[in-house]
Amino acid sequence: MRTKEISKPILIKKPRVNVVTLGCSKNTYDSEILMGQLKGNLFDVVHESDKVGKDDIIVINTCGFIDNAKQESIDTILQYSELKDQGKVGKVIVTGCLSERYKPELEAEITNVDAYFGTNDLQNLLTSIGANYKHELIGERLLTTPSHFAYFKIAEGCNRPCSFCAIPLMRGKHLSTPMEDLVKAAEKLAKSGTKELILIAQDLTYYGLDLYGKRNLDELLRRISDVNGIEWIRLQYAYPSGFPMEVLDVMNERDNICKYMDMPLQHISDNMLRSMRRGITKQKTIDVVNQIRDKVPGIAMRTTLITGYPGETEQDFEEMQRWVEDTKFDRLGCFTYSHEEKTAAHALVDDVPEEVKQARADAIMEIQQEISFEKNQERIGNTYKVLIDKKDGDFFVGRTEYDSPEVDNEVLIDATVDYATVGSFVNVKIDTAEDFDLYGHIVK
Ligand code: SF4
Repeated sequence: MRTKEISKPILIKKPRVNVVTLGCSKNTYDSEILMGQLKGNLFDVVHESDKVGKDDIIVINTCGFIDNAKQESIDTILQYSELKDQGKVGKVIVTGCLSERYKPELEAEITNVDAYFGTNDLQNLLTSIGANYKHELIGERLLTTPSHFAYFKIAEGCNRPCSFCAIPLMRGKHLSTPMEDLVKAAEKLAKSGTKELILIAQDLTYYGLDLYGKRNLDELLRRISDVNGIEWIRLQYAYPSGFPMEVLDVMNERDNICKYMDMPLQHISDNMLRSMRRGITKQKTIDVVNQIRDKVPGIAMRTTLITGYPGETEQDFEEMQRWVEDTKFDRLGCFTYSHEEKTAAHALVDDVPEEVKQARADAIMEIQQEISFEKNQERIGNTYKVLIDKKDGDFFVGRTEYDSPEVDNEVLIDATVDYATVGSFVNVKIDTAEDFDLYGHIVK
């Protein structure tokens, strides 16, 4: 009797997806969520692989924040769409902030891109490459950072009216992620070996107002701090006005919340703060920084400033210089103003010449370099808990709880003398210090 031929299912090999991330840590998070979904759909997914294949799907997660970032995104799109024309990659898909903000223009000008998606378009993007959005994978990510730390986005969008900022145009209104989902996601990450969570949002301190009718960052911090295995919780992007001081009580209460606060303040002159629609005055800004430092002694404060905003006078700038000298922030970054369409500030005249904007930013960073050097000298002889991020040449490179990845100081340990495992915590005694780096050796 002839047995019926059972036809073997034809396994169609899915193309490889190479995700390229530009811009900020929120984009990194979004790319990781996308990659988690793609993996769940059995796609071979890589992040920023140099090797490209003729069938590869390239997904570029763009940034549309300010001029330089926009240019980098456009250059990256052109680079890959050229490879496509040469038959070296299969498809090019663009998503993220630049695409959200300039979709019609991009579709008209760079026509050999297969599709453009916005910042809140994950399901459509997945469908466009033959994948399905899987609800059961909510919070599942493929980390692109070393697995011992992860950016942890707790909300999307922003309700603030800052005049210079295009982010609300690209990310929409503030939307807090439900606390239960965040706690589950933190538990999953902890189980997979993540030790440090870096809490991010456009405005971290607004968390809960939309969902729970009150600022709820303190409760969220307690819940995440209770997650077994999470040894460091770091706060980035806090907003000064209406800052929920109860957050500092939790910081003092819990050892696994880093004594670290990133609070972009942008400027200090009342003239500028008013025009920037920051909703805070010079005196209130000074007060909130002092209150945070009083409540959490030894806390490291990071801030970000803008130079060259429309109407910024020499006097406004001198006020900023004196304030930076007096306040002695632990960490500081400075951007030059970028005249962004459809922002409130775009109605003003961009009257500060580019070279003056840049000269002012350089002057601020020079002051900060000296401050950072002085502060680092005070750390010599002290011992700190250090998280080892990588081995680089003859050094193990790590961070103290006062340092965020990629933007702050590093601790360098001579690998010819000491040994440490990447992703582990060690105690390091500081021997010498430079502007932005500390050198030390491992102690028991
Ligand atoms: S709080 Fe930040 S993201 Fe929100 S509008 Fe102001 S600068 Fe932009």
